[in-house]
Amino acid sequence: MLTDLENKVLSLIDENQVIRWTQELVRIPSVYRPERGEAEEPAARWVESRLEEIGMDTAFEVVEPGRPNVIGLWRGAEGGKRLMFEGHTDVVTEGDASQWTYPPFEARIVGNKMYGRGANDMKGGLVAAICAVKAIVASSVKLGGDILIGAVCDEEGHMIGIKHFVERGWADDVDAAIICEPEENHLCISQKGVMWARVTATGKMAHGAMPLTGVNAAYPLAEFLAAMRELEAAQIAEHGQHEFLGQPSVTPTILSSPVQGEAQNNVMPAQAEVVLDIRLIPGQSPEEIESKIQAACDAIRAQDERVTFEVEVLEARAPTATDRNEPVVRVLDRAYRDLTGKEPIYGGVPGSTDGTILNSRAGVPIVTCGPGDIYIPHHIDEWLGLDELIEATKLYVLAAMRFLGVVEQDL
Ligand SMILES: [Zn+2]
Repeated sequence: MLTDLENKVLSLIDENQVIRWTQELVRIPSVYRPERGEAEEPAARWVESRLEEIGMDTAFEVVEPGRPNVIGLWRGAEGGKRLMFEGHTDVVTEGDASQWTYPPFEARIVGNKMYGRGANDMKGGLVAAICAVKAIVASSVKLGGDILIGAVCDEEGHMIGIKHFVERGWADDVDAAIICEPEENHLCISQKGVMWARVTATGKMAHGAMPLTGVNAAYPLAEFLAAMRELEAAQIAEHGQHEFLGQPSVTPTILSSPVQGEAQNNVMPAQAEVVLDIRLIPGQSPEEIESKIQAACDAIRAQDERVTFEVEVLEARAPTATDRNEPVVRVLDRAYRDLTGKEPIYGGVPGSTDGTILNSRAGVPIVTCGPGDIYIPHHIDEWLGLDELIEATKLYVLAAMRFLGVVEQDL
């Protein structure tokens, strides 16, 4: 049941403004295109202005030139908890704009949907969080703790924004985070981990007619690939199927040989290389996988010491799992029921998000829950359902009021 106070705060959400602000933000393209001098800064400045306008303390931190994080803090009672709403300001490329039904940065509304790159992933979720805080501020209720909004750069790349945020200590006082990514307002309490590794086998270059004068790297790499297939099967056997995330995977994505120089039919290259895209489910760890990759290389090398292997981990993000009994999950669960009269739907995130970094590097309990169709991110004709956008805004209001508590009210 919603209390009178909650209903009062919810009534202060200006639904038209939520939609208008989402349009404004979508209309600021924030694809990272360094060759054209385009990045997140204009979108981040827009967010900063809104956070200031609603009365939050703000910080603007440049992670790389043109790529800032924006942080907003709304203080509640001293010594209380701190709830974070997390979002990213970057969007992926629109691809071939002529393929879009409506121009990708026009944010056109047709029926109950807003079309545009970033409407779904995830400018809608970010605006929902900002407007939730706005309603709380306008209500003059005093919360028992703080709300932090983190709008970071580069989620779609190497996540330098959230890494910087954690390194700067912003996550230290955060008790829980809601990651406002498009999940149809489902409660996603687990996320796959990811590990990208480059493995290079090095032999000795030779004439194709006289292969014995060199050492072919292709066969050792082929053996390594077979070993990775076995590793995948062993990991599936050991860890099984996760209820939301399915099974783990080890996928060779890029194969190269020669690694350097030109390919020629009669030249046996010295090196062969593979990039692996490994996806992890809770229970697996990147460190364990790395040691198994190394062991596979060592076993192949033991057959022919002339071959060397180099393993380079390009990225490692652990899988995350948040207990259903974590306060932030319980609060969202109840809020969803009270708001919609429906059972919340629990799920998992097949990719990783900024939340992965918050959880694995700073130990913050996370729930990924935001407006927008789950499957439409990065597609042509990306769209956002306006009802879900408003529903998320309300959900965030309730989550903040209930997670932090209300210490004073003056309505
Ligand atoms: Zn996203």
